[in-house]
Amino acid sequence: MDGLNKSMYEIGSDSAFSILARSQELKKIGKNVINLGIGQPDFPTPKNIVNAAIKALKDGHHGYTSSNGILELREAITEDFFNRNNVKIDPNNILITPGGKSIIFYTLLMFGQPGSEIISPDPGFIAYKSMIDYTGATFIPLPHRMENNFSFDAEELLSLVNDKTKLIILNSPANPTGGVVPEKELSKLSEGLLKYPKVFVLSDEIYSRILFDNHRHHSLLKYKELRERVIVLDGWSKTYSMTGWRLGYGIFPRNIFDYAEKLAINCHSCVNSASQFAGIEALKGSQKKVDEMVKIFQERRNFLVNELNKLKNVNCKVPGGAFYVFPKVSKDNMNSSEISNYLLEKKFIATVPGSSFGSNGEGFLRISYANTIENLKIFVKCLKDFIYE
Ligand code: PLP
Repeated sequence: MDGLNKSMYEIGSDSAFSILARSQELKKIGKNVINLGIGQPDFPTPKNIVNAAIKALKDGHHGYTSSNGILELREAITEDFFNRNNVKIDPNNILITPGGKSIIFYTLLMFGQPGSEIISPDPGFIAYKSMIDYTGATFIPLPHRMENNFSFDAEELLSLVNDKTKLIILNSPANPTGGVVPEKELSKLSEGLLKYPKVFVLSDEIYSRILFDNHRHHSLLKYKELRERVIVLDGWSKTYSMTGWRLGYGIFPRNIFDYAEKLAINCHSCVNSASQFAGIEALKGSQKKVDEMVKIFQERRNFLVNELNKLKNVNCKVPGGAFYVFPKVSKDNMNSSEISNYLLEKKFIATVPGSSFGSNGEGFLRISYANTIENLKIFVKCLKDFIYE
């Protein structure tokens, strides 16, 4: 195809969505596909949140809102962020977007260009690399190894920083591994970054409410010395089971906020107002449903890790957060893409191959346990049959 901007040939896609499309095709021809591929909670959005959106529509909130989002919502975020992190954010530094993904898009448009380097998790959320490649910047993989509980090593990260580094992307708890970065690594990083005052950090904290055992969330904004160069991404998709509402936010340092807002104005104008009213209720209303969901996720995680580790040729870490496990699975000489494909086409179970999250993901599968224990049991049985076959 001639005539397109040449960056268009660099942009990647998200295999979770192509696997979802293939699962839907299989369903159409009567196959009972169990979907452990897509990253969305399997619970309905809590009723009080749905009702707040209905009320907003009935009350006549049908027009554009301010491009950065309605003030009451940004104030609710400030309060929630303070309650969770003990850090006071100015509501004027918050940009409401259609899902957290837009924050990745805008941030990479702001920092990526040929000649720049961007350090990003490997394995990591697919959109990071796709967009880095699109901008022409160089993707510098930051290994998140199984033996390190899928966290990074701050010294290794700092050794990758040089004059060309413009941005570091962090994500904890992480997609695809569920790994949680320990506070001590973040402290070491923030200290080490004092030497590189021009480097910004995008901290993707979208799974920060889905944490298990004794893990606690440590927002990068806690580190005062980094505040002028940290962008935090968060949103409602995962915490409140609101993936389809398209609601997320970014907290930007003052010196770059206006650029992010201009990108928003030129792209989506503002987020639909009913979703924003729903977002206020989500943050201010009862959090009981969130706690219940996290408890159920934890039970499923315990079940799955335990069962997977009983199988030969499967090795699964206990993830500290999110709703994914990332087991190492081997069978003959098959790579992760072949294994995932086999499970979908022959056993009708959708998973995502680890290699689609970066070269360090080869040999692993991402299993989303946003599904019932009954279906997880079927998955374990199918995987066992496949491995022992
Ligand atoms: N960041 C991570 C790590 C994710 O896994 C996702 C969704 O899967 C997002 C951001 C974007 O979420 P949304 O755009 O639905 O708010």
